[in-house]
Amino acid sequence: MKFYSTNNNMEKVSFKEALTEGMPLDNGLYMPEFIPDHSKLIKGISSLDIKDISYVIAASFLNQDFKNSDIEEIIDNSITFDSPLINIYNNIQILELFHGPTLAFKDFGARFMARTMEKVVANKDRELNILVATSGDTGSAVANGFYNVEGINVIILYPSKKVSHIQEKQLTTLGNNIYALEVDGSFDQCQALVKKAFLDLSLKKKINLSSANSINIARLIPQTFYYFNAYSKIKDKSNVVISVPSGNFGNVTAGLLSKKMGLPIEKFIASTNSNKSVPDFIINGVYEPYETIQTISNAMDVGNPSNIKRILDIYKKSDNLKKDMLSWSYDDAQTINAIRRILKNNKYILDPHSAVGLLGLENYIKYNSNCNGVFLGTAHPSKFLDIIETQINEKIKIPNRLKDVLKKEKKSLFIKNDYQDFSNYLLENFI
Ligand SMILES: *Cc1c(COP(=O)(O)O)cnc(C)c1O
Repeated sequence: MKFYSTNNNMEKVSFKEALTEGMPLDNGLYMPEFIPDHSKLIKGISSLDIKDISYVIAASFLNQDFKNSDIEEIIDNSITFDSPLINIYNNIQILELFHGPTLAFKDFGARFMARTMEKVVANKDRELNILVATSGDTGSAVANGFYNVEGINVIILYPSKKVSHIQEKQLTTLGNNIYALEVDGSFDQCQALVKKAFLDLSLKKKINLSSANSINIARLIPQTFYYFNAYSKIKDKSNVVISVPSGNFGNVTAGLLSKKMGLPIEKFIASTNSNKSVPDFIINGVYEPYETIQTISNAMDVGNPSNIKRILDIYKKSDNLKKDMLSWSYDDAQTINAIRRILKNNKYILDPHSAVGLLGLENYIKYNSNCNGVFLGTAHPSKFLDIIETQINEKIKIPNRLKDVLKKEKKSLFIKNDYQDFSNYLLENFI
Protein backbone atom coordinates (compact mmCIF):
# COMPACT_ATOMS: atom_id res chain seq x y z
CA MET A 1 0.00 0.00 0.00
CA LYS A 2 1.21 3.49 -0.89
CA PHE A 3 -0.05 6.79 0.49
CA TYR A 4 -0.85 10.10 -1.25
CA SER A 5 -1.39 13.62 0.03
CA THR A 6 -4.94 14.99 0.10
CA ASN A 7 -3.44 17.97 -1.77
CA ASN A 8 -1.76 15.91 -4.49
CA ASN A 9 -2.74 12.33 -5.29
CA MET A 10 -0.08 11.86 -7.98
CA GLU A 11 3.01 11.55 -5.80
CA LYS A 12 2.87 8.52 -3.56
CA VAL A 13 5.04 7.53 -0.61
CA SER A 14 5.57 4.29 1.31
CA PHE A 15 3.99 3.65 4.70
CA LYS A 16 7.38 4.11 6.36
CA GLU A 17 7.79 7.51 4.75
CA ALA A 18 4.27 8.61 5.71
CA LEU A 19 4.97 7.40 9.24
CA THR A 20 8.25 9.22 9.73
CA GLU A 21 7.29 12.39 7.82
CA GLY A 22 3.97 12.68 9.68
CA MET A 23 2.62 15.25 7.27
CA PRO A 24 3.26 15.88 3.55
CA LEU A 25 5.19 19.10 2.78
CA ASP A 26 2.24 20.42 0.74
CA ASN A 27 0.19 20.75 3.96
CA GLY A 28 -2.23 17.96 3.06
CA LEU A 29 -2.71 14.72 5.01
CA TYR A 30 -1.65 11.24 3.99
CA MET A 31 -4.35 8.85 2.71
CA PRO A 32 -4.10 5.22 1.52
CA GLU A 33 -4.06 4.95 -2.30
CA PHE A 34 -7.11 2.68 -2.10
CA ILE A 35 -9.37 1.46 0.68
CA PRO A 36 -8.86 -2.29 1.17
CA ASP A 37 -11.96 -4.49 1.01
CA HIS A 38 -12.43 -6.46 4.23
CA SER A 39 -16.05 -7.49 3.70
CA LYS A 40 -14.88 -11.13 3.78
CA LEU A 41 -14.14 -10.69 7.50
CA ILE A 42 -17.79 -9.99 8.32
CA LYS A 43 -19.39 -13.41 7.95
CA GLY A 44 -17.45 -15.19 10.69
CA ILE A 45 -16.50 -12.09 12.64
CA SER A 46 -18.09 -13.16 15.94
CA SER A 47 -15.44 -15.87 16.32
CA LEU A 48 -12.50 -13.47 15.77
CA ASP A 49 -10.80 -11.61 18.60
CA ILE A 50 -9.37 -8.11 18.32
CA LYS A 51 -5.85 -9.34 17.53
CA ASP A 52 -7.05 -11.54 14.64
CA ILE A 53 -9.02 -8.63 13.21
CA SER A 54 -6.21 -6.13 13.78
CA TYR A 55 -3.65 -8.31 12.07
CA VAL A 56 -5.72 -8.71 8.88
CA ILE A 57 -6.46 -5.01 8.61
CA ALA A 58 -2.91 -3.88 9.51
CA ALA A 59 -1.39 -6.24 6.97
CA SER A 60 -3.44 -4.67 4.15
CA PHE A 61 -1.83 -1.28 4.90
CA LEU A 62 1.68 -2.32 5.93
CA ASN A 63 2.38 -5.32 3.68
CA GLN A 64 4.84 -3.54 1.36
CA ASP A 65 6.89 -2.18 4.25
CA PHE A 66 7.01 -4.96 6.83
CA LYS A 67 7.28 -8.73 6.94
CA ASN A 68 4.21 -10.60 8.21
CA SER A 69 6.09 -11.62 11.34
CA ASP A 70 6.88 -7.93 12.04
CA ILE A 71 3.23 -6.97 11.61
CA GLU A 72 2.22 -9.73 14.02
CA GLU A 73 4.75 -8.46 16.55
CA ILE A 74 3.52 -4.87 16.19
CA ILE A 75 -0.06 -6.01 16.91
CA ASP A 76 0.99 -8.28 19.79
CA ASN A 77 2.86 -5.42 21.47
CA SER A 78 0.33 -2.64 20.88
CA ILE A 79 -3.20 -4.09 20.96
CA THR A 80 -2.86 -5.43 24.48
CA PHE A 81 -6.13 -4.45 26.14
CA ASP A 82 -9.78 -5.14 25.48
CA SER A 83 -12.67 -2.74 24.81
CA PRO A 84 -15.81 -4.11 26.46
CA LEU A 85 -19.28 -3.33 25.10
CA ILE A 86 -21.57 -2.47 28.02
CA ASN A 87 -25.34 -1.98 27.91
CA ILE A 88 -26.48 1.36 29.38
CA TYR A 89 -30.25 1.09 28.78
CA ASN A 90 -32.60 -0.31 26.10
CA ASN A 91 -30.82 -0.40 22.74
CA ILE A 92 -27.92 1.82 23.85
CA GLN A 93 -24.45 0.44 24.53
CA ILE A 94 -21.08 2.02 25.28
CA LEU A 95 -17.85 0.71 23.74
CA GLU A 96 -15.32 1.35 26.51
CA LEU A 97 -12.09 2.29 24.74
CA PHE A 98 -10.36 3.49 27.90
CA HIS A 99 -8.74 0.34 29.29
CA GLY A 100 -5.25 1.15 28.02
CA PRO A 101 -2.39 2.50 30.15
CA THR A 102 -3.46 6.18 30.06
CA LEU A 103 -7.21 5.48 30.26
CA ALA A 104 -8.10 7.12 26.93
CA PHE A 105 -8.75 5.73 23.45
CA LYS A 106 -5.64 7.56 22.20
CA ASP A 107 -3.63 4.61 23.59
CA PHE A 108 -4.65 2.54 20.54
CA GLY A 109 -3.14 4.98 18.04
CA ALA A 110 -0.10 5.96 20.10
CA ARG A 111 0.94 2.39 20.93
CA PHE A 112 0.60 1.19 17.33
CA MET A 113 2.58 4.16 16.01
CA ALA A 114 5.31 3.60 18.61
CA ARG A 115 5.72 -0.06 17.67
CA THR A 116 5.84 0.66 13.93
CA MET A 117 8.48 3.36 14.53
CA GLU A 118 10.45 0.90 16.65
CA LYS A 119 10.65 -1.38 13.60
CA VAL A 120 11.80 1.50 11.42
CA VAL A 121 14.67 2.49 13.72
CA ALA A 122 15.72 -1.09 14.48
CA ASN A 123 19.32 -1.71 13.41
CA LYS A 124 19.96 1.99 12.77
CA ASP A 125 22.93 3.29 14.69
CA ARG A 126 21.34 6.65 15.62
CA GLU A 127 18.63 6.99 18.22
CA LEU A 128 15.41 8.73 17.21
CA ASN A 129 14.25 11.62 19.39
CA ILE A 130 10.56 12.45 19.34
CA LEU A 131 9.47 15.92 20.39
CA VAL A 132 5.88 16.36 21.63
CA ALA A 133 4.18 19.48 22.91
CA THR A 134 1.06 18.62 24.87
CA SER A 135 -1.81 20.31 26.64
CA GLY A 136 -2.35 17.06 28.58
CA ASP A 137 -3.88 13.95 27.07
CA THR A 138 -1.94 13.36 23.86
CA GLY A 139 1.41 13.64 25.63
CA SER A 140 0.67 10.88 28.11
CA ALA A 141 -0.66 8.46 25.48
CA VAL A 142 2.40 9.09 23.28
CA ALA A 143 4.81 8.85 26.23
CA ASN A 144 3.28 5.57 27.37
CA GLY A 145 3.22 4.21 23.84
CA PHE A 146 6.95 4.79 23.44
CA TYR A 147 7.91 3.86 27.01
CA ASN A 148 10.85 1.40 26.93
CA VAL A 149 10.79 1.24 23.11
CA GLU A 150 14.38 0.65 22.11
CA GLY A 151 16.25 3.25 20.06
CA ILE A 152 13.70 6.00 20.70
CA ASN A 153 13.61 8.86 23.21
CA VAL A 154 10.54 11.00 23.83
CA ILE A 155 10.90 14.61 24.98
CA ILE A 156 7.62 16.06 26.19
CA LEU A 157 7.06 19.79 26.62
CA TYR A 158 4.10 20.74 28.79
CA PRO A 159 2.95 24.11 30.10
CA SER A 160 3.76 24.53 33.80
CA LYS A 161 0.67 24.65 36.06
CA LYS A 162 -1.69 24.31 33.09
CA VAL A 163 -2.23 20.55 33.08
CA SER A 164 -4.24 18.68 35.73
CA HIS A 165 -2.49 16.97 38.66
CA ILE A 166 -3.26 13.53 37.24
CA GLN A 167 -2.07 14.50 33.77
CA GLU A 168 1.19 15.92 35.14
CA LYS A 169 1.86 12.70 37.04
CA GLN A 170 1.18 10.67 33.89
CA LEU A 171 3.71 12.78 31.97
CA THR A 172 6.50 12.99 34.54
CA THR A 173 6.70 9.65 36.34
CA LEU A 174 7.68 7.21 33.58
CA GLY A 175 11.41 7.90 33.41
CA ASN A 176 13.81 5.74 31.36
CA ASN A 177 13.50 6.95 27.74
CA ILE A 178 10.77 9.52 28.51
CA TYR A 179 11.92 13.06 29.38
CA ALA A 180 9.51 15.70 30.66
CA LEU A 181 10.20 19.42 30.28
CA GLU A 182 8.00 21.72 32.34
CA VAL A 183 7.91 24.95 30.36
CA ASP A 184 7.28 28.29 32.01
CA GLY A 185 4.71 29.26 29.37
CA SER A 186 1.50 28.27 27.56
CA PHE A 187 0.72 25.24 25.40
CA ASP A 188 1.10 27.40 22.30
CA GLN A 189 4.57 28.43 23.45
CA CYS A 190 5.54 24.78 23.97
CA GLN A 191 4.34 24.06 20.45
CA ALA A 192 6.32 27.03 19.11
CA LEU A 193 9.54 25.68 20.70
CA VAL A 194 8.98 22.29 19.05
CA LYS A 195 8.24 23.85 15.66
CA LYS A 196 11.37 25.99 15.88
CA ALA A 197 13.49 22.92 16.61
CA PHE A 198 12.16 21.20 13.48
CA LEU A 199 13.12 24.22 11.38
CA ASP A 200 16.57 24.49 12.98
CA LEU A 201 18.74 22.80 10.34
CA SER A 202 21.99 22.97 12.31
CA LEU A 203 20.28 21.22 15.24
CA LYS A 204 18.69 18.61 12.96
CA LYS A 205 22.10 17.80 11.47
CA LYS A 206 23.34 16.80 14.91
CA ILE A 207 20.23 15.20 16.37
CA ASN A 208 17.79 12.77 14.76
CA LEU A 209 14.39 14.41 15.40
CA SER A 210 10.85 13.26 14.64
CA SER A 211 7.30 14.08 15.72
CA ALA A 212 4.37 12.01 16.90
CA ASN A 213 1.71 14.23 15.51
CA SER A 214 -1.94 13.34 16.00
CA ILE A 215 -2.58 13.47 12.26
CA ASN A 216 -0.06 10.69 11.56
CA ILE A 217 -1.67 7.97 9.41
CA ALA A 218 -0.15 5.39 11.78
CA ARG A 219 -2.45 6.63 14.52
CA LEU A 220 -5.54 6.39 12.31
CA ILE A 221 -5.13 2.82 11.02
CA PRO A 222 -5.35 1.09 14.47
CA GLN A 223 -8.52 3.03 15.24
CA THR A 224 -10.32 1.03 12.55
CA PHE A 225 -9.57 -2.18 14.50
CA TYR A 226 -12.00 -1.45 17.33
CA TYR A 227 -14.92 -0.63 15.03
CA PHE A 228 -14.67 -4.14 13.56
CA ASN A 229 -14.20 -5.54 17.06
CA ALA A 230 -17.29 -3.68 18.35
CA TYR A 231 -19.33 -5.10 15.49
CA SER A 232 -18.10 -8.60 16.30
CA LYS A 233 -19.38 -8.18 19.86
CA ILE A 234 -22.86 -6.82 19.12
CA LYS A 235 -25.45 -9.56 19.48
CA ASP A 236 -28.06 -8.07 17.12
CA LYS A 237 -26.09 -6.91 14.08
CA SER A 238 -29.00 -5.20 12.28
CA ASN A 239 -29.17 -1.41 11.87
CA VAL A 240 -26.02 -0.67 13.84
CA VAL A 241 -25.45 3.04 14.48
CA ILE A 242 -22.29 4.41 16.13
CA SER A 243 -21.91 7.80 17.78
CA VAL A 244 -18.37 9.18 18.09
CA PRO A 245 -17.45 12.04 20.46
CA SER A 246 -15.42 14.20 18.05
CA GLY A 247 -12.83 16.96 18.24
CA ASN A 248 -10.14 16.65 15.60
CA PHE A 249 -12.35 14.04 13.83
CA GLY A 250 -9.68 11.34 13.57
CA ASN A 251 -11.77 8.80 15.41
CA VAL A 252 -14.85 9.21 13.22
CA THR A 253 -12.64 9.24 10.09
CA ALA A 254 -11.42 5.78 11.11
CA GLY A 255 -15.08 4.75 11.49
CA LEU A 256 -15.96 5.99 8.01
CA LEU A 257 -12.92 4.17 6.58
CA SER A 258 -14.11 0.98 8.31
CA LYS A 259 -17.49 1.35 6.64
CA LYS A 260 -15.76 1.78 3.27
CA MET A 261 -13.74 -1.38 4.04
CA GLY A 262 -17.02 -3.27 4.27
CA LEU A 263 -18.12 -2.96 7.89
CA PRO A 264 -21.95 -2.84 7.80
CA ILE A 265 -22.63 0.25 9.92
CA GLU A 266 -25.87 2.03 9.06
CA LYS A 267 -24.83 5.50 10.17
CA PHE A 268 -22.12 7.36 12.06
CA ILE A 269 -22.97 10.29 14.28
CA ALA A 270 -20.13 12.74 14.93
CA SER A 271 -21.14 14.30 18.25
CA THR A 272 -19.38 17.52 19.22
CA ASN A 273 -19.34 19.97 22.11
CA SER A 274 -19.95 23.67 21.37
CA ASN A 275 -17.18 23.58 18.76
CA LYS A 276 -19.56 22.96 15.88
CA SER A 277 -17.86 23.76 12.58
CA VAL A 278 -18.65 20.25 11.28
CA PRO A 279 -22.31 20.11 12.44
CA ASP A 280 -22.79 23.47 10.66
CA PHE A 281 -21.00 22.15 7.58
CA ILE A 282 -23.42 19.22 7.40
CA ILE A 283 -26.35 21.67 7.49
CA ASN A 284 -24.94 24.37 5.16
CA GLY A 285 -22.72 22.35 2.83
CA VAL A 286 -19.93 24.91 3.27
CA TYR A 287 -17.02 24.25 5.60
CA GLU A 288 -15.83 27.15 7.73
CA PRO A 289 -13.36 26.86 10.62
CA TYR A 290 -14.34 28.64 13.85
CA GLU A 291 -12.39 30.02 16.81
CA THR A 292 -11.96 27.34 19.48
CA ILE A 293 -14.40 27.49 22.41
CA GLN A 294 -13.34 26.09 25.82
CA THR A 295 -15.61 23.39 27.25
CA ILE A 296 -15.58 20.70 29.94
CA SER A 297 -14.87 18.07 27.25
CA ASN A 298 -11.55 19.80 26.59
CA ALA A 299 -9.93 17.09 24.45
CA MET A 300 -12.61 17.95 21.86
CA ASP A 301 -12.04 21.71 21.89
CA VAL A 302 -11.07 22.07 18.24
CA GLY A 303 -12.40 24.87 16.04
CA ASN A 304 -10.74 23.67 12.84
CA PRO A 305 -10.55 19.85 12.86
CA SER A 306 -7.61 18.62 10.73
CA ASN A 307 -9.28 15.41 9.62
CA ILE A 308 -12.04 17.20 7.74
CA LYS A 309 -9.50 17.11 4.86
CA ARG A 310 -9.50 13.32 4.96
CA ILE A 311 -13.30 13.10 5.21
CA LEU A 312 -13.71 15.38 2.18
CA ASP A 313 -11.12 13.33 0.33
CA ILE A 314 -13.24 10.20 0.88
CA TYR A 315 -16.63 11.77 0.13
CA LYS A 316 -15.87 14.83 -2.07
CA LYS A 317 -19.32 16.43 -1.41
CA SER A 318 -21.32 17.04 1.77
CA ASP A 319 -24.40 15.39 0.14
CA ASN A 320 -22.54 12.08 -0.20
CA LEU A 321 -21.17 12.39 3.31
CA LYS A 322 -24.64 12.98 4.80
CA LYS A 323 -25.73 9.47 3.78
CA ASP A 324 -23.08 8.00 6.10
CA MET A 325 -22.52 10.65 8.78
CA LEU A 326 -24.71 13.03 10.73
CA SER A 327 -23.26 15.56 13.17
CA TRP A 328 -24.80 17.38 16.12
CA SER A 329 -23.46 19.65 18.84
CA TYR A 330 -24.17 19.78 22.64
CA ASP A 331 -23.17 22.40 25.19
CA ASP A 332 -21.75 21.93 28.69
CA ALA A 333 -25.13 22.20 30.46
CA GLN A 334 -26.56 19.39 28.32
CA THR A 335 -23.43 17.32 28.92
CA ILE A 336 -23.63 17.68 32.71
CA ASN A 337 -27.35 16.83 32.68
CA ALA A 338 -26.59 13.66 30.73
CA ILE A 339 -23.86 12.63 33.23
CA ARG A 340 -26.28 13.18 36.17
CA ARG A 341 -29.20 11.41 34.48
CA ILE A 342 -27.22 8.29 33.52
CA LEU A 343 -25.73 8.04 37.01
CA LYS A 344 -29.18 8.37 38.62
CA ASN A 345 -31.07 6.06 36.27
CA ASN A 346 -28.43 3.56 35.20
CA LYS A 347 -25.71 3.75 37.87
CA TYR A 348 -23.03 4.41 35.27
CA ILE A 349 -20.55 7.31 35.43
CA LEU A 350 -19.78 8.90 32.06
CA ASP A 351 -16.85 11.21 31.43
CA PRO A 352 -17.79 14.50 29.68
CA HIS A 353 -16.51 13.37 26.25
CA SER A 354 -18.41 10.09 26.25
CA ALA A 355 -21.53 11.93 27.51
CA VAL A 356 -21.49 14.07 24.35
CA GLY A 357 -21.40 10.83 22.35
CA LEU A 358 -24.43 9.49 24.22
CA LEU A 359 -26.42 12.69 23.51
CA GLY A 360 -25.88 12.36 19.75
CA LEU A 361 -26.98 8.73 19.82
CA GLU A 362 -30.12 9.49 21.87
CA ASN A 363 -31.11 12.18 19.39
CA TYR A 364 -30.81 9.73 16.48
CA ILE A 365 -32.80 7.06 18.32
CA LYS A 366 -35.66 9.51 18.93
CA TYR A 367 -36.43 9.26 15.20
CA ASN A 368 -35.04 5.78 14.47
CA SER A 369 -36.07 3.64 17.41
CA ASN A 370 -35.35 0.25 15.87
CA CYS A 371 -31.57 0.61 15.59
CA ASN A 372 -28.80 -0.91 17.68
CA GLY A 373 -26.93 2.04 19.10
CA VAL A 374 -23.32 2.19 20.24
CA PHE A 375 -21.47 5.26 21.48
CA LEU A 376 -17.74 5.36 22.08
CA GLY A 377 -16.43 5.78 25.62
CA THR A 378 -13.26 7.74 24.85
CA ALA A 379 -11.95 8.34 28.40
CA HIS A 380 -12.33 6.90 31.89
CA PRO A 381 -14.27 9.33 34.16
CA SER A 382 -11.46 9.38 36.74
CA LYS A 383 -9.33 11.37 34.28
CA PHE A 384 -11.78 14.23 34.79
CA LEU A 385 -12.31 13.86 38.55
CA ASP A 386 -12.30 17.59 39.28
CA ILE A 387 -15.01 18.36 36.72
CA ILE A 388 -17.26 15.41 37.43
CA GLU A 389 -17.12 15.09 41.23
CA THR A 390 -18.26 18.68 41.73
CA GLN A 391 -21.27 17.99 39.51
CA ILE A 392 -22.48 14.65 40.80
CA ASN A 393 -21.73 14.49 44.53
CA GLU A 394 -20.31 11.04 44.16
CA LYS A 395 -16.78 9.72 44.57
CA ILE A 396 -15.32 8.14 41.46
CA LYS A 397 -13.41 4.92 41.88
CA ILE A 398 -9.87 5.44 40.64
CA PRO A 399 -8.46 2.45 38.71
CA ASN A 400 -5.33 0.90 40.23
CA ARG A 401 -3.01 1.83 37.39
CA LEU A 402 -3.88 5.48 37.93
CA LYS A 403 -3.44 5.15 41.71
CA ASP A 404 0.05 3.76 41.13
CA VAL A 405 0.97 6.73 38.95
CA LEU A 406 -0.26 9.16 41.59
CA LYS A 407 2.07 7.58 44.16
CA LYS A 408 5.17 8.01 41.99
CA GLU A 409 7.54 10.92 42.19
CA LYS A 410 7.35 13.69 39.59
CA LYS A 411 10.57 14.02 37.59
CA SER A 412 10.70 16.96 35.23
CA LEU A 413 13.11 19.68 34.24
CA PHE A 414 11.81 23.23 34.56
CA ILE A 415 12.82 25.41 31.62
CA LYS A 416 12.15 28.99 30.62
CA ASN A 417 10.22 29.65 27.44
CA ASP A 418 13.49 30.26 25.63
CA TYR A 419 14.61 28.56 22.43
CA GLN A 420 18.32 28.83 23.20
CA ASP A 421 17.85 27.04 26.53
CA PHE A 422 15.75 24.36 24.86
CA SER A 423 18.20 23.68 22.02
CA ASN A 424 21.14 23.63 24.45
CA TYR A 425 19.28 21.04 26.51
CA LEU A 426 18.78 18.88 23.40
CA LEU A 427 22.41 19.21 22.33
CA GLU A 428 23.71 18.36 25.77
CA ASN A 429 21.54 15.27 26.22
CA PHE A 430 20.69 13.71 22.88
CA ILE A 431 23.71 13.80 20.54
C1 LIG B 1 -8.85 13.17 21.57
C2 LIG B 1 -10.13 12.86 22.27
C3 LIG B 1 -11.39 12.95 21.63
C4 LIG B 1 -11.55 13.43 20.21
O1 LIG B 1 -11.09 12.52 19.26
P1 LIG B 1 -10.82 13.00 17.76
O2 LIG B 1 -10.24 11.83 17.07
O3 LIG B 1 -9.85 14.14 17.86
O4 LIG B 1 -12.12 13.45 17.19
C5 LIG B 1 -12.51 12.58 22.34
N1 LIG B 1 -12.44 12.19 23.63
C6 LIG B 1 -11.26 12.12 24.28
C7 LIG B 1 -11.25 11.69 25.71
C8 LIG B 1 -10.06 12.43 23.64
O5 LIG B 1 -8.89 12.37 24.31
